[in-house]
Amino acid sequence: MFIDTHSHLNDEKFENNFEQIIASLKSNNISNAFVVGYDYKSSLKALEMAEKYENIYAIIGVHPEDWKDLTNECEEFLLRNGSNPKVVAIGEIGLDYHTTKEEKLEQKQALIKQLEIANKLNLPVSIHLRDATGDLMEIFKENKHLLNNGGVLHCFSESYEVYKYFKQFGFSVAFGGSCTFKNAKNVRESVKNIPLKDIILETDCPYLTPEPYRGKMVNEPKFVNIIADKISSIKEVNIKEVEEVTNNNVRRIFPKFKG
Ligand SMILES: [Zn+2]
Repeated sequence: MFIDTHSHLNDEKFENNFEQIIASLKSNNISNAFVVGYDYKSSLKALEMAEKYENIYAIIGVHPEDWKDLTNECEEFLLRNGSNPKVVAIGEIGLDYHTTKEEKLEQKQALIKQLEIANKLNLPVSIHLRDATGDLMEIFKENKHLLNNGGVLHCFSESYEVYKYFKQFGFSVAFGGSCTFKNAKNVRESVKNIPLKDIILETDCPYLTPEPYRGKMVNEPKFVNIIADKISSIKEVNIKEVEEVTNNNVRRIFPKFKG
């Protein structure tokens, strides 16, 4: 069975069916799903879900575009709940200049603050990166002392060279639906070149539904099966090997994960 290491079952799109999705994970060949927060409210919900369902784990944090949500109260919440046994990482945190180029400084401050929190808690981080590769590289270089617990660059769409840079800091990458997109040759190139021992699987649902369901269905954790198939065919390795290696990677990257 596979693990969906990045889902947003806490999103309002799943308000009416998340229980049913969670109950049917196993029958869809998914052993566990990580529910990832992107603001205060969604982090609270991720935590609630992880406490309620055995096969759900939580990642809590504030997305770069929601940096305003990182209030003192929210920071205290992260610090207090980061030690909960079902919280496996701080995230998703990072930089996203795609739509909000004016808020670079605020995004950087929110990222560094959350790297400090993760470091205090001895937790890895889940990084969201979009259109800000150079600045993220610089922050990693300048804050190496906060990165002792490593983590993952989620929804990785950068080159092999960028992967190698972040690998120096003990980071792995996660691939999702975009490796199936027709126009994503660069993502498939990275899948091909990055060693399987540094790759984990995710959906980022409800976003990024893989082909052939793109534009037709809301993404769900079960579609990790499609992503695993795609990675198996791009890398020309057996699907069993994809399963075993990526599951072991998840255990290595997120030591608190007990699945
Ligand atoms: Zn996400």
